[in-house]
Amino acid sequence: MAKKVKVNLGKRSYDILIGPGTLKSLRREVLKLKKKQVVIITDVHVGGLYASHVKKSLKGLACHVITMPAGEKYKTLYAASAIYDKLIALKLNRDGLIIALGGGVIGDLAGFAAATYMRGVDIIQVPTSLLAMVDAAIGGKTAVDHKKGKNLIGVFHQPRLVIADVNVLNTLPPMEFKNGLAEVLKYGFIKDPQIVKMIASNPKVNSAFLEKIVSLCAKIKAEVVSKDERESTGYRMILNFGHTIGHAVEALGGYNRIKHGEAVGFGMAAASLIGLKLRMINKQNFEKILFLIARLKLPIQLNYKADAILKALQLDKKARSGKIRFVLPKKIGQVVVRDNVPDQVILSALKGLGCK
Ligand code: NAD
Repeated sequence: MAKKVKVNLGKRSYDILIGPGTLKSLRREVLKLKKKQVVIITDVHVGGLYASHVKKSLKGLACHVITMPAGEKYKTLYAASAIYDKLIALKLNRDGLIIALGGGVIGDLAGFAAATYMRGVDIIQVPTSLLAMVDAAIGGKTAVDHKKGKNLIGVFHQPRLVIADVNVLNTLPPMEFKNGLAEVLKYGFIKDPQIVKMIASNPKVNSAFLEKIVSLCAKIKAEVVSKDERESTGYRMILNFGHTIGHAVEALGGYNRIKHGEAVGFGMAAASLIGLKLRMINKQNFEKILFLIARLKLPIQLNYKADAILKALQLDKKARSGKIRFVLPKKIGQVVVRDNVPDQVILSALKGLGCK
């Protein structure tokens, strides 16, 4: 039985269907929305594996596929513009539907195109990476990157539905799976010790495990988004555990030296050491967090320059909120947000984790 998680946003509420084979329900769901014209946006990797199958499953509906190059470097305004050209050529109008079939890059890019094309058309997110299933496809944040920073151009646009068919994870490259696991662990650390226990128990990764883990994470994301859709109360910030230093490390590496999941893994280790230094978390919990990050073969040591990471944090701060905000652990399953961590504590934590 597939699991259903609801994102509660009044009239804009929607379901997340999770489980092996949930993609089979796509046609029924599209018909429920009374859509006649559908455009699937995908990337070359995912499209090659699944687009024709998904298109066939939508028999009787006018359906086209737009295939984009794969990878973060194509999450740009230029790529969005290429999508607009195709949507116009296909004469998609406002009562049409876009289906984002891919990882977080396609989810963000197709989501951004759907939000802006003709002032907004409906979108169904069909995430195909673990990261997109537990995070990117839920919550309505859409964006493209700018040369000054990731996700700087974006808009909120909630999907009508999310379908996470865990069977498609069978073709996900192992490195990408590991990226997703870093986010899964993050959910455990911020909200749900059960997730941490599941990861710690060295589980057999089968569809039952995936369905369970994706639904536990999706439930947390849905709850956070339902309470703080636009990050206005600050509650949604807790999802950024590990991402403050993680983003800085990614930016320093030009977004190709280190994978996102690895950067988040290191970021969670660094935030935990900051938490320990500020006496927010005890040594036993701190060590458990580091052990689990390392267990997933994510880095808990990096030989980057601590000063350079701090500078990148300050640059990011300028580009974004004006403050360096850290999500710090109190214990496993509980975090707090702080924007007054002294530079010296940040530097000393980084040096404690191998930075020079
Ligand atoms: P991605 O979309 O680049 O996918 C990773 C790689 O895996 C790609 O090469 C893709 O083609 C391939 N792939 C995906 N699913 C596959 C499958 N089932 N089989 C085979 N190959 C498959 O990267 P990602 O890690 O999924 O997402 C990262 C992006 O998500 C970033 O741009 C990030 O900013 C964004 N993101 C957005 C949010 C949000 O709230 N909107 C949250 C987190 C991350």
